[in-house]
Amino acid sequence: MANTVIITGASGGIGSAASILFAQKGWNVVMNYFRSSQSAKLLAASLSQSGYSVMPYYADVTDRAAVERMVYDTENKFGRIDALINNAGIAQQKLFTDITDGDFDRMIDVNLKGTFLCSQAVLDNMIHYKSGKIVNISSVWGVVGGACEVHYSASKAAVIGLTKALAKEVAPSGIQVNCIAPGLIETRMNNNIPADDLSDFVDEIPLGRMGDPSEVAELIYFLCSEGSDYITGQVISQDGGIAI
Ligand code: NAP
Repeated sequence: MANTVIITGASGGIGSAASILFAQKGWNVVMNYFRSSQSAKLLAASLSQSGYSVMPYYADVTDRAAVERMVYDTENKFGRIDALINNAGIAQQKLFTDITDGDFDRMIDVNLKGTFLCSQAVLDNMIHYKSGKIVNISSVWGVVGGACEVHYSASKAAVIGLTKALAKEVAPSGIQVNCIAPGLIETRMNNNIPADDLSDFVDEIPLGRMGDPSEVAELIYFLCSEGSDYITGQVISQDGGIAI
């Protein structure tokens, strides 16, 4: 029987790359999207046409009912849920003094509460089967802090705390929870950073370039494969050396 993964934010750069890789590896892929229905459905259609098993799924990860419906429908279609990738996220560059209550709440809602809701929703299934892998996508800024991204950094640092604590709690149930802290990855998330700033930033990356979403997808996949069976509660930096 094929394994099943739910990937949140599958319409974005990293989520699309992960969806393609898991599909190519023979998994059933539930491709969650929110606003970008067209790109999610286009990718899902092209993967389906190539014979892969994918299900595009609309859900706002901040909405408990929507998340629970997504998990329920996944169970109905595929049965066991082998992995959850908490990848959906938003970013915003603002001076700390300009961050509004609304900015702050939205950041925490999507990046932290979304991870909480999706993880909680899949756990009954994983505990039932006494196996499962949860991979949370944090950020280098959650590790070292990023100026003008204080609310983003705080939300991503909280994801690291959630990862470590949950890993301890569910390890006796055979479930592993790990976290990836990507650096600068070439996706639309960085589209609003001015070109000069981006190039200055790249100059400071020890490996001298941005990361490709497919590289993050490979690490996500590793953390969902048997090769990682003895790894849990870890934060793996994938940032070209920024956080050394
Ligand atoms: P992206 O292309 O902008 O993708 C973000 C994804 O999150 C989109 O699929 C978006 O879905 C989804 N999303 C946002 N709000 C959502 C919600 N309420 N419910 C469900 N999905 C929602 O950015 P990315 O670079 O691939 O980001 C993926 C993850 O990597 C994020 O958690 C991000 O913080 C993290 N990360 C990225 C970088 C980087 O440099 N790119 C670095 C470190 C960490 P819709 O478009 O369908 O709304």
